[in-house]
Amino acid sequence: MPVSEPPASRIQFASRASGTLRTPWAGLVVAFCALLSFPACGEDPTTPNGQTARDSAPDEKAQKPLSIILMSLDTMRRDHVGFYGYERNTTPFLDELAERSLVFDNAYTTFSWTLVAHMSLMTGMYPSQHGVWREDAALPPSVPTLAERLHESGYYTMGFHDSRWLGERYGFARGYDVYSRHQGAPIAERHIELAMDERPKDKPFFMFIHLMDIHNAPLKPGGTMYEPPEPFNELFMLEPEKQLEGLDPEAAWARSDGITPEQHEALVALYDGGIRYVDTKVGEWVEQWWKAGLLDNTLLIITSDHGESLDQRGTGYGGHGFAFNEGLRVPLMIHFPGDTRGGERVAQPVSLVDILPTVLDGLDFEPDARLPGYSLLDDGPEDRVIYAQQPDRMEAFIRWPWKLLRPAGENAHMLRLFNLEQDPEELEPLTRDDVGDSPFKRISRDLGQSVTSERNAWYQPEEPNPDAGPLSPEAEAALKALGYLGDG
Ligand SMILES: [Zn+2]
Repeated sequence: MPVSEPPASRIQFASRASGTLRTPWAGLVVAFCALLSFPACGEDPTTPNGQTARDSAPDEKAQKPLSIILMSLDTMRRDHVGFYGYERNTTPFLDELAERSLVFDNAYTTFSWTLVAHMSLMTGMYPSQHGVWREDAALPPSVPTLAERLHESGYYTMGFHDSRWLGERYGFARGYDVYSRHQGAPIAERHIELAMDERPKDKPFFMFIHLMDIHNAPLKPGGTMYEPPEPFNELFMLEPEKQLEGLDPEAAWARSDGITPEQHEALVALYDGGIRYVDTKVGEWVEQWWKAGLLDNTLLIITSDHGESLDQRGTGYGGHGFAFNEGLRVPLMIHFPGDTRGGERVAQPVSLVDILPTVLDGLDFEPDARLPGYSLLDDGPEDRVIYAQQPDRMEAFIRWPWKLLRPAGENAHMLRLFNLEQDPEELEPLTRDDVGDSPFKRISRDLGQSVTSERNAWYQPEEPNPDAGPLSPEAEAALKALGYLGDG
């Protein structure tokens, strides 16, 4: 694992071209090669300031523009991941990859809902900006997605998803040459192999892969809520299904009454088995890409859209953790060619809205002033506020070590303030003290002022969100079976 120190040649990124994209590609490659200290990169006369990346001989393979692989492992709760300290061996492959990657210890989604979070991932915008936080709202045409940006710049784009929340009706398919839905990782694997085989090899590519195999299964009678395939179902507990005989998954989703400690352990063992299954499949794919030399020239980003509640607050298993940290904190790692920055850990809070600006920065695109996030190749501002929003229900603001929860509408005054350093599980909100300038008042006021001024500056699309139209009866039934669209 050669290089683990910060890149020495960031000056390459300081000089931007006036157009959307600096051309030719070779200039972009040298900038990235310099950032990565990538040994096989060659010389390029278009480099800003007349600097060259290295003296080594040009290498035809390395001269290609970087490709991008972005993986979203749906419902992967951060504290059930090995490289974040989980005691079970759920992620042996990802743990190894993390040693070779830049890892973010405090990454937050924009809300614990697949639809909302993925739209932030793909647009680089917070939910109140992209507006796709209702099941009938689609993305405004004026907001470009990551796939559209890359496609317009000459990338071949492929997307593979396993959820109706990532369907074409919301705008997720925009900008893709191939956008297909699978059900389960084995089918995803076939789609990926076929598309990778048939893609034009003279173009850089962007590939988005979404896996749902950790997510709960349909909440049907006789089901076990989480249903990883054999042998992953028994990896962490023998015959967990026996413990769950008679379980009503739909009831357990909504409330924890009647769930025994043994049943809870069985559910968590199955959930963890799903993580290990996904870790295994991702490991098989990444190993193949590695052997094929694909990762010599590809940026690999792995994250999740939200965590999972696992009945942590005695309110049942549904909701994916809502606005609490078991829902909002997600794994995030970036693997660079040559394992550059391998083993570096970033403690500063970051957001899924940062991923798009990171890709733009890495490819030396012109920054987009409409985006509220920051490139993860840089240190963001120290006092930054991280937002999570379900605008009609709850907003969360995090400025380390404080986290403020504000309900929407008439309950907006019912703030809850937590000190994450002293109370990482958010069990003891600071109390409101009406006498004097209490910490609660002072901190919530200061944070509230920062939030208001920052949010007033956020870009808002001029046009309203198009109507995505009603869900088909089939889609509605399938989403209801997964626990969505209910009262909770
Ligand atoms: Zn999800």
